[in-house]
Amino acid sequence: MNLNTHEDRDQCLQRALLSLDGLSVGDAFGQSFFFVTPVIADQRLGGRFIPPPPWFFTDDTVMAVAIMHSLHEHEGIVPDWLAGEFAAQYKKEPDRGYGGTAHGILRAIGEGVPWKEAAGRVFYGEGSCGNGGGMRAAPIGAYFADDLQFLISNARDSAKVTHAHEDGQTGAIAVALAAAWMVTQHDPSAPQEHEMIRFVLANLPQTETYWRIKKALTLPLELSPKTAALILGNGSQVISSDTVPFCLWCASRHPNDYAEALWSAVSVYGDMDTNCAIVGSLVSLGTGQDGIPTDWLASREPLNLKFK
Ligand SMILES: [Mg+2]
Repeated sequence: MNLNTHEDRDQCLQRALLSLDGLSVGDAFGQSFFFVTPVIADQRLGGRFIPPPPWFFTDDTVMAVAIMHSLHEHEGIVPDWLAGEFAAQYKKEPDRGYGGTAHGILRAIGEGVPWKEAAGRVFYGEGSCGNGGGMRAAPIGAYFADDLQFLISNARDSAKVTHAHEDGQTGAIAVALAAAWMVTQHDPSAPQEHEMIRFVLANLPQTETYWRIKKALTLPLELSPKTAALILGNGSQVISSDTVPFCLWCASRHPNDYAEALWSAVSVYGDMDTNCAIVGSLVSLGTGQDGIPTDWLASREPLNLKFK
């Protein structure tokens, strides 16, 4: 990638930060629905009543902040550094809602096991195809939006330190590609239907997540999110292929309305923090900073960024 001036690099970082705001607000918004009864959740959904603050973010945001620091300090993803940072943040706050497999991998890396070994030995040596790669990948796509080769290699590198299974990496690449599309091709004045999904498919490795995203092409955007989630998944299996396809469809449905995108995402239940993190990380790039409602942003606990 050829970043000619400080201004170019600053623009890339600003885009990644915008995506991180969308991601972290979405993560914290979605997470707040896990701790209420179905009756209260339905009342909030029906009346569009946002949860009372503070909204606490989860592992999705902690790991995306680590990615942001890698982009800022190393101008890209350095897997050894990122694995160490993931493990250090995990050690500080292990109760941020990490998945069962992630606990074991991050603890092992923190104890000195090389990340390749720690990530590669889970699931009988197949590695994880979970949605953790996708949940934190959009800031990478926003940063490398001008260079798809760099985008794909950096997205893969960001996922592989915890997700050795190729489909876990495909999920990260898909979300990063969607973010790049939002930066470079989104046009708020024109209906673009499934164009983002087509762009992602044209550049994506053909593993399980690819085929499920392809199904999303057949679902009209007028369909209810619940019906779409019945076909595409809602993240309840916490794997890439049952999470990323619905999130891309949902972001395509509301590319100009951050709040409505997240209400749609949370309405299908499933992995609500991660679904809302992915959708928020993409739609914020379409709406700009002003599209994230100020009361939503103020409700999210502050991010622990070392720069800005
Ligand atoms: Mg989470």
